[in-house]
Amino acid sequence: MTPDDDASPLLTWTEEGEPRSGRFGDVYFSRDDGLVETRAVFLEGCGLPDAWMGRDHFTVAELGFGTGLNIAALLDLWRRTRPEGGRLHIFSIEGFPLTAAEAARALGAWPELTEATEALIANWPAATPGFHRVDLPGFDAVLDVAVGDAAWALEQWSGSADAWFLDGFSPALNPGMWSPEVMALIAERSAPGARLATFTVAGAVRRGLAAQGFVVEKRPGHGRKRERLEARLPSVFEPSPPPRVAVIGAGVAGASVVRALEAQGVRAVVFEGERPGAGGSGFPAALVTPRLDAGDHGIAALHAQALERAAHLYASIPDAVTSHSVLQLPQAPRDAARFEKIARQPIWNDDDMAVLDEGAASAVAGEATGQGGLLMKGAFALRPAAVLSKWLSDAEMRSERVTRLERADGHWRLIGENDAVLGEVDAVVLAAGWGSAALLEGFDQTPRLSPVRGQADWIDGDATVHPMAWGGYAAPTGQGVLFGATHDRGDTDATPREDDSARNLATLEARLPALAKRIAAAAPVQHRAAVRATTPDRLPVAGALDDGLYVLGGLGSRGFCVGPLLGEHIAALVLGRPSPLPRDLAARVSPRRSSVLADALASSSPTR
Ligand code: SAM
Repeated sequence: MTPDDDASPLLTWTEEGEPRSGRFGDVYFSRDDGLVETRAVFLEGCGLPDAWMGRDHFTVAELGFGTGLNIAALLDLWRRTRPEGGRLHIFSIEGFPLTAAEAARALGAWPELTEATEALIANWPAATPGFHRVDLPGFDAVLDVAVGDAAWALEQWSGSADAWFLDGFSPALNPGMWSPEVMALIAERSAPGARLATFTVAGAVRRGLAAQGFVVEKRPGHGRKRERLEARLPSVFEPSPPPRVAVIGAGVAGASVVRALEAQGVRAVVFEGERPGAGGSGFPAALVTPRLDAGDHGIAALHAQALERAAHLYASIPDAVTSHSVLQLPQAPRDAARFEKIARQPIWNDDDMAVLDEGAASAVAGEATGQGGLLMKGAFALRPAAVLSKWLSDAEMRSERVTRLERADGHWRLIGENDAVLGEVDAVVLAAGWGSAALLEGFDQTPRLSPVRGQADWIDGDATVHPMAWGGYAAPTGQGVLFGATHDRGDTDATPREDDSARNLATLEARLPALAKRIAAAAPVQHRAAVRATTPDRLPVAGALDDGLYVLGGLGSRGFCVGPLLGEHIAALVLGRPSPLPRDLAARVSPRRSSVLADALASSSPTR
């Protein structure tokens, strides 16, 4: 979505070529000396690069992402001075996002930052409300941009900043960015010894920071600004060694956690009793679609963020994505109105969702659909094997089945068949699909996982199908067509059944008879069944169950949509780093969620 008028910065350009916000009546930076000012006020003001020396991880948070100039200057300094093996995490908040083209024009003034500005522009975050993660692998850095009001974003952020750049427009023009509420949240989200820098020395800002425990100091300013402000918390940062992590299960959940840990410089050991993709992640094709919800903002926002993240991460895996966009056909008469409502939700990126009339839907389907549909342009079909092999390629794989976990002196002991001790680690992530249920016994978790058997069938040799879903689904495998699927609750048998193949073909025939005919003619039909884990509220489970014990499960049939984002959430919890998930969404997927909490949060949404 492009920002609506409420969220537009109302950007104009001065005669000197400076970007100016019509909304706040101020320039983002001065074109003459903007970079010098950024370096003097924010980088030096936070004691960089000295403050990150010797650190394996450093977190910078910014209020006011704007053109990204401060972040580009930060990345440029980090690239030149980063500690060996160090990871930089950046969190920046923007209520009124610029477009990539606007930012490119603004940043074009600083050729010395080209490497950093090109990386930012090429990965410019979407303007939809919520959190957006941007990978900057060339810099060993990650940027989370929160699109929304500063107080909302700080409330939702799970990180602790080592350095703060306060760069809202001046307190006189923009008091909301400097309110006591914002100051209190800054202190709450600060790591011990955190440093803070800003261009303003306004008394209210100095008093506000001091009231939160910061030691505040005026420093000589730069250019037109006579003075600037530095502040720090008097506490002392204590580093901790990286944990040893075991991931149990090598399906999309486990692979997503492994990938996310590796992106943070931590290599996990993976226990997989059968083989990667032995469960629900082992079909020759997967449809990566969001769960649509016209009413519950949390469910819709979680899936929109997950889909955006999944699409981004899969895009760099060769041969993973086989086809873009998925046509959703109605399952009930009321779906036509529901599709209209969903397409208008502000969480979707530009053109992500389009309501099609019957003619357009039939053209996509390649046969008469008898109805219109919803074209989910951001959804896609995927080859699961390509993802699993890529994300597990550098992990330490152990083909052993973990049957039990034991607490031992602040560690977790992994026990296998015949009570063999398979290993001892600081953190365990249960990501074994339905297999996690047995390991979870005895832990007080809500909600409980329950099994669903699903069988899908496929043919080879006829790959011309557009991905479609209607209750049943059809997807290209790359060399054929997969269709399905059965959905039998409480059934834990993974042996394929002739009856289920007949049911799958009947489901296809009822909706897309021409495709069904082609498939019947192309026999032999192959089949596979697997048992998935699901939850009573059909939301995934991702979070900590106990000290050092985490679970990622209950992904149902949406593992390839939600897995990558939730894997990053788990990795952040394990390593004590900022999660890409806003806190309200993290609460929705928490293994400790109660229905009361879920209901209370259903109505919360980003505000600007
Ligand atoms: N750091 C930016 C750069 O390097 O280009 C310049 C930031 S500019 C001075 C201030 C930014 O804060 C603007 O982009 C503005 O839209 C944003 N902003 C102002 N009030 C806000 C609020 N209440 N919540 C979130 N963002 C806000």
